[in-house]
Amino acid sequence: MSPFEETSEARALSPRPDPAAPPSSQGLGWKRALAAAIRDPTELIGTLGLSKALIKPARRAATRFPLLVPRGFLARMRRGDPADPLLRQVLPLEREEEEVPGYGSDPVGDAAATCAPGLLRKYAGRALLIATATCAMHCRYCFRREYPYETAPKGMAEWRPALDQLAGDSSIQEVILSGGDPLLLTDRALDRLVREIEVIPHVRQLRIHTRLPIVLPERVTDALLGILCRFRLQTRIVVHANHPAELADDCAGALTKLADAGIPLLNQAVLLRGVNDDPATLFALSQRLVDLRVLPYYLHQLDPVRGAAHFFVPEARGITLIDALRRKLPGYAVPRYVREEPGAPGKVEILAPRPT
Ligand SMILES: *Cc1c(COP(=O)(O)O)cnc(C)c1O
Ligand code: SF4
Repeated sequence: MSPFEETSEARALSPRPDPAAPPSSQGLGWKRALAAAIRDPTELIGTLGLSKALIKPARRAATRFPLLVPRGFLARMRRGDPADPLLRQVLPLEREEEEVPGYGSDPVGDAAATCAPGLLRKYAGRALLIATATCAMHCRYCFRREYPYETAPKGMAEWRPALDQLAGDSSIQEVILSGGDPLLLTDRALDRLVREIEVIPHVRQLRIHTRLPIVLPERVTDALLGILCRFRLQTRIVVHANHPAELADDCAGALTKLADAGIPLLNQAVLLRGVNDDPATLFALSQRLVDLRVLPYYLHQLDPVRGAAHFFVPEARGITLIDALRRKLPGYAVPRYVREEPGAPGKVEILAPRPT
């Protein structure tokens, strides 16, 4: 089974579009938008008016890691341009099937860091929960492309061992909800999970790592804001955008709602060849983020996950790009350029060698 095959819960929250259903005021808009996302490579390629020669390899590569892209995200792509930086993030390619030495299924040592089903602990004071197995978009470079999601908890009872560990270790001050995309949990499931975390007295911070405000902005409903703002915990959200064209008006609206609700917003991006590996794009990304009250947090070096080698950018190039940003932007608008090393005590900052 593909790790990204939809779980029954995800199916339950992805009803087929129902034309007679009430509009999005009832918070169903995002579920309908998710249900309507493109999953068929032929449709994606046809809709964008791209060469039919792309279809066969895309269909093949999609059998390993399915295509998934919401229509709102598709609308931000240029038609007829196979090099569009948003398309590149989602279009399955033949090159994904090349075996490249050093690229594997668990590039960041998740297996070794798993302490209970769904619970990853790598760094002091922080614990990460794999809150869901599903995403609203499948990013071809994803470091959890092959994560064994079937081992992560599905219902509340299966979360008990992870929650007991959090409760039993007073050094944990921050809990990070990740996945998959934790905001694909229903409001009710998210509320229940956060309630369980909230009663642990030593946990002070709740962090949510999500791409939904970018790729499925319909998810940022008033009901969601109500949940996120109700808790004793300080909540912050880390979104994931790689290119300024992702931050279109609907997405800007979602981010504005979150910022207006007082939730601190950060962004993490991945440095990707052909997507954002040039100074003008990274500069525009930082500026757009800052305009939307999102601080650029990390620029990640690509994790060597099987199927993503064609996105690789050498670290020397990354250092040059960050240096170019530093010359033009205030310090808070320059992300930290980092890589993840299995066994390291935190993300490792990639810096230019000091002149001797
Ligand atoms: C990246 C990561 C974190 C968060 O690291 P920060 O540097 O605090 O953003 C926490 N836990 C795990 C397992 C991670 O991979
Ligand atoms: S949204 Fe995040 S977890 Fe999901 S496929 Fe994209 S990078 Fe991976």
